[in-house]
Amino acid sequence: MVLEKFGSSLRNAVNKLRGRPVIDEAAIMDFLRDVQRALLEGDVNVKLVLELSKKVKERALKGEVPSGFSRRDLAVKILYEELTNLLGKKPPKIELDGKKTNIILIIGIEGSGKTTTVTKLSHWFSKRYGKVAIISSDVIRPASRLQIEQMVGSEVPVFWKDSKDPVDIMESGIEKFRKEKYNIVLVDTAGRHKDEGGLMKELMDYYRAIKPNFVLLVIDGTIGQKAFNQAKAFAQNIPIGGVIVTKLDGAAKGGGALSAVAAAGAPIYFIGTGEKLEDLEKFDPDSFVSRLLGRGNIVELAKRMEEAFKETALLERISKGKFDLEDYRDYLKQLTKAGPLDKLLEMIPGIGNKFSNIELDPKEMTRWMAIINSMTMEERRNPSVIKGSRIERIARGSGVTAKDVRRLLKSYGQAKKMMESMSSPAKMRRLMRRMGISG
Ligand code: GDP
Ligand code: MG
Repeated sequence: MVLEKFGSSLRNAVNKLRGRPVIDEAAIMDFLRDVQRALLEGDVNVKLVLELSKKVKERALKGEVPSGFSRRDLAVKILYEELTNLLGKKPPKIELDGKKTNIILIIGIEGSGKTTTVTKLSHWFSKRYGKVAIISSDVIRPASRLQIEQMVGSEVPVFWKDSKDPVDIMESGIEKFRKEKYNIVLVDTAGRHKDEGGLMKELMDYYRAIKPNFVLLVIDGTIGQKAFNQAKAFAQNIPIGGVIVTKLDGAAKGGGALSAVAAAGAPIYFIGTGEKLEDLEKFDPDSFVSRLLGRGNIVELAKRMEEAFKETALLERISKGKFDLEDYRDYLKQLTKAGPLDKLLEMIPGIGNKFSNIELDPKEMTRWMAIINSMTMEERRNPSVIKGSRIERIARGSGVTAKDVRRLLKSYGQAKKMMESMSSPAKMRRLMRRMGISG
């Protein structure tokens, strides 16, 4: 497993917290110290560690705990969220043109894993995007061509020619693969230069000459938080589209490298997890953290808690007599699930009958949600303004008839009246308290 030590230290911190009988400030502080230690050992930057623990502390101690959960659960959910933030956003899709030959330029310093990564990418892309080829332009280490051929075998063609000029090699290769209608051409480069400025200038020459559709920067994960400066330096000189962090198998500082690249503002597209062709994984902070902390477990908890938060918020608005079309939409969504709201409605005499007036056909509900989505915020918050030409506009916007919109409004009106009549705010609050929803 990737980042085994890092993950197990974090899991231990969570397990220790779970084993505590009482969750008070001291318990949270102790939990945070364990988390900090795990992050620092993983070479995450001190400033990032302090920021993360400050956020977890504030939210875990002050945050509202929804019914059915404990402060322990809340602390774990928040750690999960903040760790996910630490590793950046899910990278946007690489835009590839299906009708053209797409050029992807691979850059990075020597030894970072470019050539290995190019072969892995060719394998990954050829399984998904048709014909893939590689250009080997490393004139300093021509043997890298053999390195590629050894890894990809006959799966992917590799272009190389006897020339001292990398741009010449690239241009010839691109011309050939364009003629042969390849979908993706991966260009491997040398990353060696006397000084950084020279390397950047050379890479910019490549960039201008071949105009790649996408540039991927390869960074060695074993350098830990030093990845921050490296990612910044490249990004300042060349328009990089994203980063691949390699050697995360067994890299003690991998967590540091990933968080550093995220802090530098570069999206991480893939991670390298070994020397073989298959050892490449698409990167997504959310699923990466859930795996790190033990999948299922924590993600499930976070999801359930999110639902509970929404239900509580909706009930609170209803109890305050504020029930607009935004709430109605949330309410329609909730109706498909069994939550506190259903329980609440069941407890109020006469509700079951009244609800039979409102059609709860799932198709109709989906249509209603689409109608509400094409309203302006003002209309949702203040539905009484929806008349005449507004109804026509909303119907056009959501692809339904004006009659459908009126039916929705009528149903909303009924629901609102019922919400108001069934209980005074005080009565509602008592009910909510009885169910343990709010205090
Ligand atoms: P380049 O100089 O940037 O082209 O780097 P190479 O692709 O030649 O890789 C340098 C060394 O790192 C080689 O020994 C590779 O086998 C190794 N390497 C590359 N990626 C990984 C990885 O994800 N995991 C491990 N363990 N080794 C890797
Ligand atoms: Mg190489």
